[in-house]
Parts: sequence; C-alpha cells; structure tokens
Amino acid sequence: MTEKLYYIDAYIKEFTAAVLCSEPCDGGFDTVLDKTAFFPNEGGQSADTGKIKDATVLDVYEEGGVVHHITDRAVSGDMVHCKVDFAPRFDKMQCHTAEHILCGIIHRLYGLENVGFHIGEDEVTFDISAPLTREELDRVELLANRAVFDNLKVDTYFPTSDELPTLEYRSKLELTENVRIVKIGDVDSCACCAPHVAYTGEIGLIKILEIMKHRGGMRIWMVAGERALRDYRKKYENIKEISASLSVPQHDTADALKKYMSDTELAKREIKSLRKSLAEARAEAVAKTEGNAVFFFEGFSIEELRYFVNAAADKVSGMLVALGGEAGEYKYVITSNSVNLSAEIKRINEALSGRGGGKPNAVQGSFMAELAKIREYFGC
Ligand SMILES: [Zn+2]
Repeated sequence: MTEKLYYIDAYIKEFTAAVLCSEPCDGGFDTVLDKTAFFPNEGGQSADTGKIKDATVLDVYEEGGVVHHITDRAVSGDMVHCKVDFAPRFDKMQCHTAEHILCGIIHRLYGLENVGFHIGEDEVTFDISAPLTREELDRVELLANRAVFDNLKVDTYFPTSDELPTLEYRSKLELTENVRIVKIGDVDSCACCAPHVAYTGEIGLIKILEIMKHRGGMRIWMVAGERALRDYRKKYENIKEISASLSVPQHDTADALKKYMSDTELAKREIKSLRKSLAEARAEAVAKTEGNAVFFFEGFSIEELRYFVNAAADKVSGMLVALGGEAGEYKYVITSNSVNLSAEIKRINEALSGRGGGKPNAVQGSFMAELAKIREYFGC
C-alpha cells in the first residue's frame, strides 16, 4: 500500500520518497514509490502531473491501494525528490470544493443527489438527479458564493466504524470502512477521497454557466477560481466590443442586439421588395420584339432576373435573355414561348462557356463569355 500524502495535506508540493520499482509499461515506465502526493486519475478529475527526480509524471492511477506513476523514463536511486505541478492541482482543488458546496446546497434545499462530476481542461460539469429551474440555481449559486465569503474551514477525517452510522453525509457509494468525510461548515458533508482547499475563501468566485436536461436529471456547467476570472475576462472583452459596435451600455447589449437583428430583417425584406419592383419596372420598359432580345442588368441576382423575365416574357417572340452578375461571369435566365430551351441550352452553353439548365420554357445558369459574344450569338 502506498502512503497517500494527499490525504494528510493537500498542499504538499514537494516530497522525498523511496522508489519501490520503475519498470517499462504501456506508455512509459510504471513507477511505484513508498509514499506519494500525486493524486491519481479518479473521481472525475485527471491525474496530477509533475516530476519524480528527472522523470516526468504523465499519468497516475491507483490499484488495490498502490499508486502507480506512469513516467516518461525509468527512475533510478533509492530516495528521490518529487515535485507536483501545483497550479493545475490547485485549480482542481478549487473546482472540486466548489462542486461540493453547490451539491451540498442543492441536496439540502431540494433533496437531490450528485450523480456525476468531471473536471476537464476547459469545462467543469456535474450532474444532479432531477432538473432545477434557472431561478432555483440562481439561489444555489448565491448561497454557494456566500459560503465562500464566510471562509469556512474544510475538514477531512476518517470516522470510526462505530461513528460512521451516526453521521449524515452525501455519498455515491455504500461504503462501510475507510470512509473519508469532507465537511464544509454546515454547508456540506460528503464522502470523498480527492484533495480540497483548506478554507472556502480560497475558491474565489463560483459561477454556474450552462444547464441542460440530462438523463432525467440535469447537467450543469460551472467555473470557479481562476477559471471564473478567465471566463469573465473573455466575456467582458466580447461584450465591450459588442457594446461599442452598437453604441449602447454594456448591460443593454442583448436588447440592443435583438432590435438590431429585427431591424436588419425588416431592411432585408424591404430591399427584396424594392429590387422586385425595380426588375418589374425594367420589364415594363421592354418593347415588343420579333426574334431574340438580350438585356444586362449589373448586380442583378438570379432571383431578380427571374422577376424581370416573368414580367417581360410575352413581349419577346424568340428567346428573352436576361443577364446579371458581373462582366466575365454573367448569370443568366432565359425564357421563351417558342423555343424548347431544355433542348437548346446544351448548344448555347457550349458556344458561350456556360453551365446550367432548366425547363422547356425557362433555363438559368452562367456564361463565362464577353457580352458582345453573347449578343452576337443571339443575333442582338
Ligand atoms: Zn471532493
């Protein structure tokens, strides 16, 4: 059995230990010490990293009471100096203790259980046994932050087997011995083996982010400590830019953006209706023509060309060719009451480097040809 220094003191960053073995294994070397402060990969959080002498600790797991360190090289020597990367460890201690406080309050107020927990690189999530409303979670969040302001002591202890049945605590497993209780004032009492902060004031801000119904319960995203500061900074930078772009105070950006979006939608509809009127006005100006006719309207879309040809179709006895887009690559819509266009369009595309097709009385596509060449082809 490895002596677990992280049970005695979660703040041990450096220690000296005896090397019991360091053998090649999958992914590196399996290094076992007589004692360790490296917390393994369990309980929803990744393993600690750091150094054992000059070897890098890549992963840590526990099996039958023995803690295995996967190192990038073999560790030699009897007694070695070890160092835990404490910044990521402390981040996990902050998030983990914050989760205890949130789940303790949720349990006390609403009788719900914690049924999942994960500290990822970017995200921290925990799952509860039934959904809560955003208002209920706002209340939980406020009480959790007040527990931080109160700077409560976080006590960890192993009760005796006589004492254990008399205690009230949250637990995911039905354990009967070696139960480690983590007690945070009157806020929470929970069986847990991970490292936690010593006082709640060390956690800093606790903020609930997204919530999502999940497996009959709810998944909750949260941040705490430095993660909360990073999150706030990123969001602040975003809001600052949006606020400047919309020329409104930062706290009014959501309403201002909604108004901007609805104004934009109205403007788009108005532009569409005006362009349709313009296309129809151009059609009105078309004179009765025997044979083919070619018209070019710079910037017209296929949709606008279609409005035009629909309105002018009966004025041209041959093919009515409407071109839009820009010189070099013209968009076209062609209609005719006399020519079968679905049969004709292949020949037209071949002659004018075009692509496209359609129905016997209307085709659309694009030409990669000069305007003069297009006019010449249609004899206009
Ligand atoms: Zn815990």
